[in-house]
Amino acid sequence: MIIPSNVTELGPSEFKKFLSSFDHVFSDCDGVIWMGGHPLPGAGEFFKRMKQHGKTVHFVSNNSLRTKHNYEEKFKASGIENGFDNLTVPSTAIAEYLKSVNFTRKVYCVTCPETIKVLESKGFVCVHGPDLGADFYQDYLRYLDDDPAVGAVVFDSDFQINLPKIYKAILYLQRPGMLFLNGATDKYVSLKPGCLALGTGAFTDIAVEESNRIPVQLGKPGKAFGEFAMKRAGVKDPSRVLFIGDMIEQDVSLGRNTGFKTMLVLSNNTKENMLAHKTIKPDYYAKSLGSIVPFL
Ligand SMILES: [Mg+2]
Repeated sequence: MIIPSNVTELGPSEFKKFLSSFDHVFSDCDGVIWMGGHPLPGAGEFFKRMKQHGKTVHFVSNNSLRTKHNYEEKFKASGIENGFDNLTVPSTAIAEYLKSVNFTRKVYCVTCPETIKVLESKGFVCVHGPDLGADFYQDYLRYLDDDPAVGAVVFDSDFQINLPKIYKAILYLQRPGMLFLNGATDKYVSLKPGCLALGTGAFTDIAVEESNRIPVQLGKPGKAFGEFAMKRAGVKDPSRVLFIGDMIEQDVSLGRNTGFKTMLVLSNNTKENMLAHKTIKPDYYAKSLGSIVPFL
């Protein structure tokens, strides 16, 4: 079992060894670069210094909800140049995947509007909804009509998810050959300390369980997503990537699944939390990216 090392407590030669153990930095965004709408101190400087040390810098987020404009503003506020151009999110991975299999049928989207926008901009025909369900079960019969034009079911951060959408998704998924793609997997999110907040991934789990189908994971912690990010970044050897994130289940798992080195920043976890996790431990951890800057 790995014993995570605190990067800011490494001796000079150990720190040097750490720094030379990777050529590429892949970083999560929410909770690492910014949090609650504000840039986290020192994060922009951390990436600047990593580049000065000859590392390439890429960003990998499960958040398809933000528009390009919104991402660009956030990177800019953190002092990061060309952040969006070097960002991989599930929506673009889903579009690339569909393109790679020459997909031409309709996509049933249980996704956020931005993911639909991205898929449509790449030429895919999307269907979605309904946004409101009927009041009585008898009326749910209408959600049990198959649409033979649909050839893929895609889940990705749908905050308007409801019973009719789950009905439709499971119905379509029963048809042989139906593609099943999943973006964000987050079952829980951090909203308020001490309060449990479910993420939209909790609903994907219902579709997975009831359809008895395993989706292609095009969000963290899916290996296919990690490999897609590598391809976008032009990286061949996963062992030369340091993956930085704030979530154990999404970020550290993605690193493990893809063969990256991993570092957890403790913005949403305590050290005790991290050490208590039964199966997943990062190689390294730090309080924040800013806390590492003085050592770079
Ligand atoms: Mg995060």
